[in-house]
Amino acid sequence: MNRLSNNMAGKRRFYNPLAILVPKDDLPDVNKLEKQIPPVLVQALKKHKYHLVGKHSAVKRCKWLYEALVNNRACYKQKFYGIRSHQCIQMTPSLFYCTQQCLFCWRAQNTDLKIAWDEMNLPSWDPPESVIRGSLEAQQRILSGYKDHPKVDWQKLREASTPKHVAISLTGEPTLYEHIGELIHEFHKRKFTTFLVSNGTLPARLSTLSEEPTQLYISLCAPNKQVFQQVCRPQAHGSWENLGETLGLLGSFRCPTVIRMTLVRGLNMDNVDEYSRLVERAQPTYIEAKAYMHIGFSNLRLSFERMPEHKEIHNFAVRLAEQTGYKVLDEAPESRVVLLSRLQKPVRFSS
Ligand code: SF4
Ligand code: SF4
Repeated sequence: MNRLSNNMAGKRRFYNPLAILVPKDDLPDVNKLEKQIPPVLVQALKKHKYHLVGKHSAVKRCKWLYEALVNNRACYKQKFYGIRSHQCIQMTPSLFYCTQQCLFCWRAQNTDLKIAWDEMNLPSWDPPESVIRGSLEAQQRILSGYKDHPKVDWQKLREASTPKHVAISLTGEPTLYEHIGELIHEFHKRKFTTFLVSNGTLPARLSTLSEEPTQLYISLCAPNKQVFQQVCRPQAHGSWENLGETLGLLGSFRCPTVIRMTLVRGLNMDNVDEYSRLVERAQPTYIEAKAYMHIGFSNLRLSFERMPEHKEIHNFAVRLAEQTGYKVLDEAPESRVVLLSRLQKPVRFSS
């Protein structure tokens, strides 16, 4: 079915997301990972608090879930777009697989831990229903850890047990998952809003998406091919050109689109004029300029000094605004992110 005619965004109803479950016997065994995935990698990911789901998916507690439940703080996406941090699941259907090896990425990459696997040797994919069921169960396990927390907000914890938003973004390239459109559809059937974050190297998958997400993010972390090769380290020929094709596709989406720039001091924060030409081509609803964060496995590749201050991000965003005609709409210094748009204010999704 055509992507644009199949969007369900306006037709969602609320119900308990745990009410529609596939039989337990249909779930893939977590222990039956593809043979090529080294057990040491799985152990390292578990140590980093990844909850593995089936053969290739995972859920991880976002720090903002904790902040929302314990310290009454919210992530910048709640501030900008109204999604609620404590009712958000952060997950990926492509834990071990990506078309890039970005220097700034927090995921474990092939050879990071002196462990080798082929990130482009794709598995037999689990069905979307079992990915969702496993993700919901993982989120409940994460939440159960808060029941004894002395500072937890009980009202929020109760609300959190019915998640309403999913960030399909944790690690890996989610459009490698061949059922990504159905996964989005199944989440929408369960009354979730969905933010899909892609590196844009698979335009064919995006152009034939059977259902649009609530909001689509495309990462643009280089102003030109040379920086792209150095910083994003594509694993296939033609990736820069494919990303360009994806930028040209953004106008065909009905959902709001975002160009996300992860900015690393001294690596990809120059050439604002080249970035502005790419923005001109894509015409996204928003641009999010965001600082690289020195966390996760990126610590093995970049030094702490590579992390820009918020004022550097702000200055970059102001220069980009001047060149593109976009306006600085909002910012969140605690996350070192600035939001630009041509809209007067962002579209909000909360109920
Ligand atoms: S939207 Fe992103 S930052 Fe906010 S709670 Fe969800 S995963 Fe965390
Ligand atoms: S595209 Fe995303 S998941 Fe893949 S290496 Fe880059 S930041 Fe990480």
